[in-house]
Amino acid sequence: MNKFFGITAMGVLAVSGSAMASEPEQPWIVDRFDDIKVIRYEVPGFEELSLNEKEMIYYLAEAAKCGRDILFDQNFKYNIAIRRTLESIYTASTKRDSDEFKAFEKYLKKVWFANGIHHHYSNDKFKPEFSEKWFRKQLARFINDENRQMDDDLLCRIIFDKELYASRLNQTAGVDVITASANNYYEEGITQEEVEAFYGAMAAADEGNPEPISYGLNSKLVRDAEGNIAERVWKVGGMYSPAIERIVYWLEKAAAVADDVQRPIIEALIEYYRSGDLKDFDTYNVLWVKDTDSKIDFVNGFIESYGDPLGRKASWESVVNFRDEEACRRTAIMSANAQWFEDNAPINPAYRKEEVKGVSAKVITVAMLGGDCYPATAIGINLPNADWIRKEHGSKSVTIDNITYAYDKAAQGNGFMEEFVLREEDRERMKQYGKLSDDLHTDLHECLGHGSGQLAPGVKGDELRTYSSTLEEARADLFALYYLGDEKLIEIGLIPTLDVAWAQYSDYIMNGMMTQLSRIEPGKNVEEAHMRNRKLIAEWCYEKGKADNVIELVEKDGKHYVVINDFVALRKLFGELLCEVQRIKSEGDYEACRKLVEDYAVQVDADIHAEVIARNAALKIEPYGGFVNPEYTPVYSEDGKLVDVKISYPANYVEQHLHYGKDYSFLPSQN
Ligand code: ZN
Repeated sequence: MNKFFGITAMGVLAVSGSAMASEPEQPWIVDRFDDIKVIRYEVPGFEELSLNEKEMIYYLAEAAKCGRDILFDQNFKYNIAIRRTLESIYTASTKRDSDEFKAFEKYLKKVWFANGIHHHYSNDKFKPEFSEKWFRKQLARFINDENRQMDDDLLCRIIFDKELYASRLNQTAGVDVITASANNYYEEGITQEEVEAFYGAMAAADEGNPEPISYGLNSKLVRDAEGNIAERVWKVGGMYSPAIERIVYWLEKAAAVADDVQRPIIEALIEYYRSGDLKDFDTYNVLWVKDTDSKIDFVNGFIESYGDPLGRKASWESVVNFRDEEACRRTAIMSANAQWFEDNAPINPAYRKEEVKGVSAKVITVAMLGGDCYPATAIGINLPNADWIRKEHGSKSVTIDNITYAYDKAAQGNGFMEEFVLREEDRERMKQYGKLSDDLHTDLHECLGHGSGQLAPGVKGDELRTYSSTLEEARADLFALYYLGDEKLIEIGLIPTLDVAWAQYSDYIMNGMMTQLSRIEPGKNVEEAHMRNRKLIAEWCYEKGKADNVIELVEKDGKHYVVINDFVALRKLFGELLCEVQRIKSEGDYEACRKLVEDYAVQVDADIHAEVIARNAALKIEPYGGFVNPEYTPVYSEDGKLVDVKISYPANYVEQHLHYGKDYSFLPSQN
């Protein structure tokens, strides 16, 4: 599970005075197009690592880049073919100043950013702003029998026919979410009913297993020659083998330089990539979650299931990181007090964990992003996802500090806070405590929120179906919001004053009710789980606190502002909603969950929506951010020994993607 960066006012605050004033600063934003800004991030502390640590990061970083094609193909079966065709045209073109070419370039930049032709957040297919006539001319000029990846007519229909494969992930209530979604987790023609029957049978056969398998996590569902539903497993020798073999190659190199604690963990991951057996994945996860001491850590595999409308198939991703020792102080304090938080949670005592196990949280510095974490990435990660492992062995939770820092730097002075925050006192609080309150919110969400609570006996955890991600994110956010305003945080030295919490409350509710809508196209509803969760919390509290005017929607000079009139009452509402959300999860109450989400988290007020988009557009703030990776270059001695790894920070988005497309592309165009 992961937490994404919201569109909040906090982004505008200065992070620290630091010593940087004297150096001319490199620009943080390296590219902007459409609704996207691309930011570079730095990796402070890399130079100070030992040679052995640098070498390990280098190998893991290579492994992180090798799965890029897998994600493209998972997102849509023609993505790799389309990307290759667009890149062939792009690199061969000499006339680059026409409007058509510029629109084409923008389209290609968006495809790189989304790892495919559907928007990474809204899941809608991109609308090209170049003409089919122009595009066909380019095909005729630059695409021949040698570099043709797919039929020209089919390619044009996919790009220009807006009905065809319109959404990568369609979760509209009442539709068959499998056939309505263009992702490549299920072969075309397979229905939701068939998928549910297929995995329902597997789950039934596994009934009573205390260590239930995450069926379907690492495979595509297909129809075999006899018409039966079957799985094509993603493993060495299976689907995506050429890319997985490269990943394994680099993991083996990393294992060879790892210490006795990490070597068996990496070897267990390799074993799983070879066997494709989900039991091996669990074995790996149990080993991985227990290792909280290693300085360098990484995620590499089929992890998050947000891209599958049924939440079963996992997209490929990788994050390589190392611990930020100084910043780990606050999460160490949280971990030490984890049981207190659990025991005092405002929920039914029956749904509290009697013993909170292995809550580990740390602040990390990211060294490489890959797959579904690139270019857009989460700022917090909590893994593994299997409920039984979390219960038996705990979970690892991280906050990614250098990414948050880069977001903050990129947002400085963009005028957002002045536009959307009405009261001076709120702006002051956000300026003073914004970064701290964002960091703490993320830490509480990841290291305590997701790990808290327990299911009632007999509840399996998959009852909430398409609503489960939204509810789970709401649960973790509510836990964080509720405790952020607790005096306990002052007592244990995490915050100097509750103003830190009030800064977060103002920001969170404003985002949930208004500002995050800038990410949604006019006429659309809220689809993405994290956005739904924020809207759910904000709208529910607005309605429940209406009689006491807890949250007020103020209109001034034709503009709307969200103002919190009673922070303490709002905190109480967070506690009440947390109680209900925990009950729904613990009891697997699908109907209550559906109603809560559909009533509060989905429908967008068209007038407010239009207003937010207009005000945001006037500020010229792109609602989405993503990153370019640093580059690592090994330095060898004359006798071929690795003696150093140099880090550099390329600042060209286009070059990075052309480079990845050339040197880290291992799959055929059709898989
Ligand atoms: Zn989360």
